[in-house]
Amino acid sequence: MLTAVILIFVINFSNISGKTVVIKSENEILYEVSLSKNRVIELDGNTVEIKNGCVDVTKADCKNQICVKHKKISKKGESIVCLPNRVIVEIK
Ligand SMILES: [Zn+2]
Repeated sequence: MLTAVILIFVINFSNISGKTVVIKSENEILYEVSLSKNRVIELDGNTVEIKNGCVDVTKADCKNQICVKHKKISKKGESIVCLPNRVIVEIK
């Protein structure tokens, strides 16, 4: 039981320190940047903001705006997809 608790702690800790934001377009990786560094990435049609450990699509020229309305992501495995622009923003 104690071992399991320690293991969970270790996994959580490594998630916090080693998260990477991957931005893909048509399965091609455009950006692979650290989640811990604040920055704004201007794509062709989408603006992605990395701020305080969260990733958000703040602007987009797509019609449905689903990617802009999507809540900020901060956890490993989460993603924001812009189908019209074929852009995928995910946390690894
Ligand atoms: Zn979109």
